Amino acid sequence: MSNRAVLVIGGGIAGIQASIDLANMGLQVYLVERTPSIGGRMAQLDKTFPTNDCSMCILAPKMIECAGHENVHLFTYSEVDEVRGEAGDFRVTVRRKPRYVDLNRCTGCGDCVEKCPRRVADEFNVGLDKRKAIYLPFPQAVPRKVTIDAETCLYLTKGRCRLCEEACEAGAIDFEQQEELVELEVAAIVMATGFDPYDPTSLKEYGYGEIDNVITALEFERLVCASGPTGGHLERPSDGKVPRTVAFIQCVGSRDVHYKPYCSSVCCMHATKEAILANEHHPDLRSFIFYTDMRAVGKQFQEYIVRAREEYSVTYVRSRPGQITVDQDTGSPNVWYDETVFGEAGDRVRRVNSMDVDLVILCQALVPRGVHREMVEKLGLELDESGFVAIRERLVRPVDTSVPGIFACGFCQSPQDIPDSVIQASATAARVAELVGPRK
Ligand SMILES: Cc1cc2nc3c(=O)[nH]c(=O)nc-3n(C[C@H](O)[C@H](O)[C@H](O)COP(=O)(O)OP(=O)(O)OC[C@H]3O[C@@H](n4cnc5c(N)ncnc54)[C@H](O)[C@@H]3O)c2cc1C
Repeated sequence: MSNRAVLVIGGGIAGIQASIDLANMGLQVYLVERTPSIGGRMAQLDKTFPTNDCSMCILAPKMIECAGHENVHLFTYSEVDEVRGEAGDFRVTVRRKPRYVDLNRCTGCGDCVEKCPRRVADEFNVGLDKRKAIYLPFPQAVPRKVTIDAETCLYLTKGRCRLCEEACEAGAIDFEQQEELVELEVAAIVMATGFDPYDPTSLKEYGYGEIDNVITALEFERLVCASGPTGGHLERPSDGKVPRTVAFIQCVGSRDVHYKPYCSSVCCMHATKEAILANEHHPDLRSFIFYTDMRAVGKQFQEYIVRAREEYSVTYVRSRPGQITVDQDTGSPNVWYDETVFGEAGDRVRRVNSMDVDLVILCQALVPRGVHREMVEKLGLELDESGFVAIRERLVRPVDTSVPGIFACGFCQSPQDIPDSVIQASATAARVAELVGPRK
């Protein structure tokens, strides 16, 4: 095949790995990432189960390898606008959003960020912190270039300020920058658009957004991370107090016919990891994990749970809490749950209990994101009943979508952890290589 270029959509760990593998095979890779930096959700995690490796220490070298590869052409802050054609001959239009910053000039020094007077919610820290309207999404961002958020910049919204321009010695600020459309011709497409955490606000019984100190697991990841809003000090958002008791609630919106019927797959393990980390931060802290049933099927996962129980004061409570209220005396969250254990005599006991804790972490459902409507409507890309990219023959072609030449890896095709996403990414690279054939 003469066209030896590939489009990868999504620059999380799956898209990064697929890009590196494809580029190493000598293929030209166009990696399109919606946000200003590659990295995806893994960049937001503190450590990873079941080894507790530092997430960024594993990810950052891969981000640099990917962006620095001579065969990878990175389009960050960009989205795929249109896709036409068929396997071996896809025509793609990529929309590059204006950053209002000249990437060739920006040195990433941060002088502009310091001068910017506008502070807005920081999405990387899941709103627990503020960032400026001109910002680097996180310290290890790739590319290490700032972006002006057009929706909050004072000059772009109200026509006054330009302090960043004055501060930038490199002359990188460019308020005249326009959106750009780039046409690409590629032989194959790899989808790696990942997931979003489900917003638990609609599950009123858990009081998210209404009861103090009820947070999500991703918020917790940022709270314990040294690069997070508290510098890695685990403290309650409401008053900065060190929590002594923490409740993790599993399957918030998952495995629930009213919301998302499927299992989000990684929550039993990430809750266990987070409970271990909490105890490492404060050794007298106790965690209670309220679970539906334990899904610990990966290598060393069961052993990880045993260690959590025996060495890190983690108690597993088999129950699905029905409500969280506010304790009138302490103001802390009170978790109401139905115990479904066997009593001493072996008979099933059903008791409604409540537990007053300092912090509640909701492990909410994880939902697919970023699947391109155009691909679904015009190319016939099938989604499954939950919105994940459908895989037609999972047993024999686990990364092939319903459209020949379009492959899918990572969380956008099914809930999965980082190692599985990496395996699938390499599998997509192998399938693309098969399609494109050897270099003539
Ligand atoms: C709280 C929490 C803790 C976790 N802890 C662990 C752990 O310890 N160990 C572990 O193995 N797993 C863990 N996971 C799971 C892990 O985060 C996922 O397995 C992993 O992030 C999947 O990678 P991905 O590349 O498929 O998706 P993502 O990380 O979601 O990356 C997708 C990328 O695609 C981009 N994108 C989306 N739509 C578009 C579009 N239309 N165009 C262009 N770009 C787009 C996104 O901006 C993003 O950069 C955890 C998950 C959560 C929620």
